[in-house]
Amino acid sequence: MLHFINASLRALLKLAAANALPQELFDPKIEIGRSKELFKSYVKHFEIEHHSYCNRTCWFCPNSVVDRKSVNLRMNKKTLLKIFSQLAEIDYDQSIIWGGYGEPLSDETIFDDIRMARDMLPHVYQRLYSNGDYLTAEVVRRLEAAGLDQLRVSLYPESDRDLEMPKLLKSLEDRTGLKIATKTREYDGVQLIGSSFLILVEVKDFRAKHMFSRGGALLKESGQEAYARTLLCFSPIQHLSVAYDGQCMLCCQVRPDVKEHQSAIVGNLNDEHYSIFHYYRDLALSREVLLCSGIKKGVCTSCNFNPFGAGPYKLGRMGSLSKILNKIPGSKAFVNYLWLFPRMDRERYKQRGDGGEDYCDPGTAHQKCS
Ligand code: SF4
Ligand code: SF4
Repeated sequence: MLHFINASLRALLKLAAANALPQELFDPKIEIGRSKELFKSYVKHFEIEHHSYCNRTCWFCPNSVVDRKSVNLRMNKKTLLKIFSQLAEIDYDQSIIWGGYGEPLSDETIFDDIRMARDMLPHVYQRLYSNGDYLTAEVVRRLEAAGLDQLRVSLYPESDRDLEMPKLLKSLEDRTGLKIATKTREYDGVQLIGSSFLILVEVKDFRAKHMFSRGGALLKESGQEAYARTLLCFSPIQHLSVAYDGQCMLCCQVRPDVKEHQSAIVGNLNDEHYSIFHYYRDLALSREVLLCSGIKKGVCTSCNFNPFGAGPYKLGRMGSLSKILNKIPGSKAFVNYLWLFPRMDRERYKQRGDGGEDYCDPGTAHQKCS
């Protein structure tokens, strides 16, 4: 009963949030100056795919069907610098996620780039997702020196998770010289202790029912063939995701090297006239469709990824309701409270010790949310 009341309350709050969001978030013609302000107010995660290479080809990841092994292509340095400079223009103080579908620690230049972000964006919270294969005591030391805030490690058992877990964790302890501690309060994994930044480790159970369809790229593997999404998606309001080749994606579930995801490319930051604020503005029409009721289209149809927990499934943003809500005195303040409440500055992230997420983080290819 309590669970039902809780779920209904959450659904109602999300419905209110969807309807009370400012109309400008859904307008593709707003001035770039206004897009900057909205970006500053609503974006919580800026995800960067540092380079293309991953040393694995996990069956539950699109890397099992797209080659990310034979060459390594790094994000253009100029583009990376442009991202940091533009984030610095608005004094961005939320998270940068080093993720995507490459293994971030497989490329030597990652340490300098984390350092560069630290120097240019002193208030951001830098989190890196890794499969842990490259993690050694030396790598931990270099990440400390670079200024990382949090490392999320996903370990992959080959068959039985419960049987393999002790061995995998022991190997990580041996390689890093760090110690496994018990579960953190809000994180369903373990913590490696002994470093100056937070290290959270998960050993995942990748049965089909736990995996995402990845915008339809893994439709059969995920068992989502018959699924048609009606659930709203708030992702393009708060999470931006740039691929190694500068392509700005609809979300972290899609990638430019999957044929079916071409319609989910929003722009390209390698274009010198295109900024992260153009990217944020250009998500307007997708936001509108994703916050309306009904079956979602394109890459979203089969997407079972849900960064906000349950509901609302069928009700969405309605023109008349949002107009009324926007006219009620205090409604803007209320929606800002709902949106800004989970936004936390770096120090508060640290105090919580769990990364500060109010939801299971989408991030990267590694299936942290299962
Ligand atoms: S899940 Fe992670 S480690 Fe596995 S192939 Fe995808 S990016 Fe690489
Ligand atoms: S519904 Fe899925 S594919 Fe579509 S934007 Fe949301 S997370 Fe991405």
